[in-house]
Amino acid sequence: MEIRAAKQVLKDYFGYDSFRPMQEDIIRNVLQNQDVLVLMPTGGGKSLCYQVPAMVKPGICVVVSPLIALMKDQVEALRENGIAADFLNSTQTSKEQEVIENKCYDGKLKMLYVSPEKLLSGGFFTFLKRLQINLFAIDEAHCISAWGHDFRPEYTQLKYIKEQFPEVPVIALTATADKLTRQDILQQLMLHEPQTFVSSFDRPNIYLQVKPGRDRIKHILSFLDEHPNQPGIIYCLSRNATENLAAKLQSAGYKATYYHAGIPAEKRASAQEKFLRDDVQIVCATIAFGMGIDKSNVRWVIHYNLPKNLESYYQEIGRAGRDGAKSEALLFYSYGDVASLRTMLTEGKDKEPELQLAKLERMQQFAEATHCRRQILLQYFGETKAEACQNCDICRNPPSTFDGTVYAQKALSAIARLKEEARIGTVIDVLRGSRNQHILSKGYDKIKTFGAGQDLGFLEWQTYLHQMLNAGLFEIAYDQNYALKLNANSETVLFQHKKVPLVKFAPAAAASQPAERI
Ligand code: ADP
Ligand code: ZN
Repeated sequence: MEIRAAKQVLKDYFGYDSFRPMQEDIIRNVLQNQDVLVLMPTGGGKSLCYQVPAMVKPGICVVVSPLIALMKDQVEALRENGIAADFLNSTQTSKEQEVIENKCYDGKLKMLYVSPEKLLSGGFFTFLKRLQINLFAIDEAHCISAWGHDFRPEYTQLKYIKEQFPEVPVIALTATADKLTRQDILQQLMLHEPQTFVSSFDRPNIYLQVKPGRDRIKHILSFLDEHPNQPGIIYCLSRNATENLAAKLQSAGYKATYYHAGIPAEKRASAQEKFLRDDVQIVCATIAFGMGIDKSNVRWVIHYNLPKNLESYYQEIGRAGRDGAKSEALLFYSYGDVASLRTMLTEGKDKEPELQLAKLERMQQFAEATHCRRQILLQYFGETKAEACQNCDICRNPPSTFDGTVYAQKALSAIARLKEEARIGTVIDVLRGSRNQHILSKGYDKIKTFGAGQDLGFLEWQTYLHQMLNAGLFEIAYDQNYALKLNANSETVLFQHKKVPLVKFAPAAAASQPAERI
């Protein structure tokens, strides 16, 4: 019954005939007052999952959203569709806020967007208590978790929502959350018997490619040559780099501009506008660019520098090909970038530098992969893809491999005998029979696989273990001191003698050149 009403709302207010897969299930659960967590890639259609129930039920839906700029766009779009929506955030005067609060009291609004800092402000919960709230929607829910890549302290305040409003259902939504972040979101929001909906993160239309970071400008120019007039984004690590690169591309005759958080708001808005209207072909940008940019025909994304983790990489390449048409993601990889990022992470004010470094290492392993990149990426987000994708550089040009089954068996058995408590370095030391202080003090020299892999050097073992990790043969427990853990795939290697192809170790094959200055 209620789902009929939901379909009517979809048609009447949004002009669509049918729900996308999963939207209907999610909405049904929300309408039954269930708490839900929704993981859907950008462009998947998350907003309707709370906007539709908000219209079906009596009362008002409160949406927590971290980006003030986005909030305004969303509210305007809703109003265009005839939905009474407004927002409250710190950019408004107290007079302006009062007007909106009064509209809420009078039951004149169906959707209220609030910034997380607004939640922290005194008396806000008292204000909310006076309203008839039909649903809380927490957008970008990964911001609540220090495991995630975009932790925002104000978000931790959201844990009081369930405590204060136990009767009101909560829908948490995010486009990026690995397994740990997912658990953390559920726990911190204290959701009641939550249902989790994960739609596939696969973006099969995006071709994934990694190139060594030398002669980047030359490669970019020839890439542009092969993609005439196709709109695209080049992500750079520094603000200066975006400006310099844009100037270089302009002087090569391209319509390029730059975008970063250090330029005035009007200039930023105008760069964004020009890109949306196809007045410029290329935006050279820092990570500040892209959140909420609804341009469906971005044909390619280039990473001039290595992103700091796979979540960011995924999110940034996801700005390409939202229309489903063929698109490309090209990443330049150099050790120089890894070194700069390491320095930034250790010297910066980032929370949990060790975790951030581990994530950077995972990013680096992806860049060095000898295994289908899409499988690696999806596995990182907790999704298993049985077949290689045939749409990444590795699938198109597979490196030659040898039968590494015996090495894999030795490594996995060492992990098992170390009771799945040891980190990668310890596992290698055990395999190589190193009698260092740590190994001796733990008595690891007594276990059966000690020294079973003496024929290989440390770096060789490291490469092979990374390859095995990328192939999903074991996992790293980031929340358990980075211990290596076995999984179902490990069993097939250990007990069913599944063959493990490995790519021969070749020192410094990839990216030892220093980062190019621009
Ligand atoms: P997300 O928040 O997951 O990034 P949005 O909610 O912004 O995605 O939706 C992306 C686009 O898909 C929007 O233009 C939206 O109007 C459209 N969309 C969402 N659901 C449907 C649907 N059921 N039918 C047609 N278009 C839809
Ligand atoms: Zn592939």
